[in-house]
Amino acid sequence: MKKRGFSGVRPTGRLHIGNYLGAGKNYVAMQDEYDCVYCIVDLHALTTLADTDKLQSNIYEAFLDLLAAGIDPQKAVIFVQSHVPEINELFTLLSMATPLSWLLRVPTFKEKARMHPQNVNYGLVGYPVLMAADIVLYKGEVVPVGEDQLPHLELAREIVRRFNEHFGETFREPQAKLTNFPMVVGLDGKDKMSKSLGNHIELAATAEETTKRVMSAVTDPTRKLRSDPGHPKACNVFKLREHFDPECITQLEEDCRMARIGCVDCKRALAEAINCDLAPLRARRISLAANPEYVRQVMLDGAMKAQVIARQTLDEVKSKMGLI
Ligand code: ADP
Repeated sequence: MKKRGFSGVRPTGRLHIGNYLGAGKNYVAMQDEYDCVYCIVDLHALTTLADTDKLQSNIYEAFLDLLAAGIDPQKAVIFVQSHVPEINELFTLLSMATPLSWLLRVPTFKEKARMHPQNVNYGLVGYPVLMAADIVLYKGEVVPVGEDQLPHLELAREIVRRFNEHFGETFREPQAKLTNFPMVVGLDGKDKMSKSLGNHIELAATAEETTKRVMSAVTDPTRKLRSDPGHPKACNVFKLREHFDPECITQLEEDCRMARIGCVDCKRALAEAINCDLAPLRARRISLAANPEYVRQVMLDGAMKAQVIARQTLDEVKSKMGLI
């Protein structure tokens, strides 16, 4: 029997190349070898989203991005988290097996609480429990995620261990699966590429938008003049070219160190390489967007398939916990 792969993406906007290189590529690659379940985790978005006016369109856009990236609904289950309400029940049940102290020491919680002291809601503290519930509701064993999610996944493993100890062996401890680019730095050259920081390139951006964004990217901060030798290993644009332009990277490294190429030309080449790499995805996205009935149908079918798994798990959990 194939192992179950599970992962989720928050609908906080369209997906960016960090999501794609850090996790999405594995979503697609895993479809044949694993029995995959992927979802748009809209409830997670509510933990930080004060304004929900755009939530429905963000869900739809992120769903389109996943399909355009190559998720095949014939191979993988793809759906929207809240369309399967069993998640709420499992979230409540798992929260009974999770010490509050574990949640209060999660670094991302502390960081978000520091940044938005006026919006430290109960759901935000429970975010890792909801994430653990997502994974185990669908009996996920292998979880493709970016490096930033590893602490949350570790916590999910602890919750699973504790649940199993208390109520008997029920879940496998989920394992992370990283891509070869598990942490994509944003165009500012310092922070994680992220929608909320505005340092990203959307998968669905046009070629022109992409070029404009790439041309604004920060390169080697020590290289002030075109004639200064560059330090490719300290340059985020070089790192992205390693991924998008692998065949010319040895030559580029030398040219940069010898100041034979300037940052502007290097960025122009990166923009071209990204546009070329993403062209098929973007073309698929345009044709999917022209067929919203199909996309809605995939969403409905996905939720129906996911619910079958979810109900089975929930019955098992309720029986283990003495509820039935
Ligand atoms: P975001 O962080 O952009 O709000 P999500 O939290 O929904 O996106 O992340 C969806 C997936 O993309 C997760 O597996 C996450 O680890 C991965 N991911 C997000 N940003 C990056 C990044 N800059 N580099 C690598 N992976 C990332």
